[in-house]
Amino acid sequence: MEGTIVSIKHFEIHDGDGIRTTLFMKGCPLKCVWCHNPESISPTIELGYLSDKCVNCFQCTKVCENHKIENNKHIFLREGCSLKGNCVRVCNQEALVLYGKKVDVDALLPELLMDQMFYGDSGGVTVSGGEPFFQPMFLVELLQKLKASNINTAVDTTLYCGKEILEKVIPYVDTFLVDIKAINPLKHLKCTGVSNELILQNIKYLDEIGQRMEFRVPIIKGWNEDEMESIIDFISSLRHEYPIKLLPYHDYGNSKCYALGEKNIREIEKFSSEEIEKIVSAYKQKCKTVYM
Ligand code: SF4
Ligand code: SF4
Repeated sequence: MEGTIVSIKHFEIHDGDGIRTTLFMKGCPLKCVWCHNPESISPTIELGYLSDKCVNCFQCTKVCENHKIENNKHIFLREGCSLKGNCVRVCNQEALVLYGKKVDVDALLPELLMDQMFYGDSGGVTVSGGEPFFQPMFLVELLQKLKASNINTAVDTTLYCGKEILEKVIPYVDTFLVDIKAINPLKHLKCTGVSNELILQNIKYLDEIGQRMEFRVPIIKGWNEDEMESIIDFISSLRHEYPIKLLPYHDYGNSKCYALGEKNIREIEKFSSEEIEKIVSAYKQKCKTVYM
């Protein structure tokens, strides 16, 4: 089956246990205001233009009419772009980049398995995004085939998915890395564009059946900082104990937002190290394994 992916990263150590290969899939039903992978939100392939890398060599203007010269400077006209990528191929500054490519599961497997000898007992493959459940049948087939090759699998997910598809995936997943962004449904809606009802239901279900999980909590000043107590209470109310990874905001996503032509990028203030310490210590009072 064919799916749309953004990229593959090798030798990752932040996407689950051990050394991992992480596949970033395209498409996400959420639109978190702090998203650091904005190129993975749209399910379709997109052209990114990183203007700070452009040296005005004008090679792209020779292969596509959407690239023009104005006042001796290159400009990119996004409207009408065919996404054929001819301009990407001639730009040797990597100022033009295609976010997303279509690939078949069987064509993907050799790259995902190439580091198998380094995975050891705990490492393996993590499917991330975007939201992996956005392409559900691709996800099921991919995980089935990874398991058939005896690979440890993790899915980095919002769990914004129906129970039916979740149940199809569970037999092939060792660990779910689950984002919790807010417990208050209105706050969740404001931060991500969707309600969290489905997400919390799915977390409770995975807890009930004893599924291995790790929680990922973004801590974002002015957006979800007042949700921390409720998140701690929710996690503490579950039957089993789970590790929690806290993710302070960083602005690496902004350059990609600009590259995608977004003009109104939200400025988000960062916490001071003292503020972060306070949040971490609040988690540690009630939760056993907390790290950043
Ligand atoms: S869930 Fe993740 S990929 Fe989707 S919008 Fe939020 S941060 Fe971005
Ligand atoms: S080919 Fe690349 S570096 Fe040259 S003008 Fe086009 S975008 Fe800029």
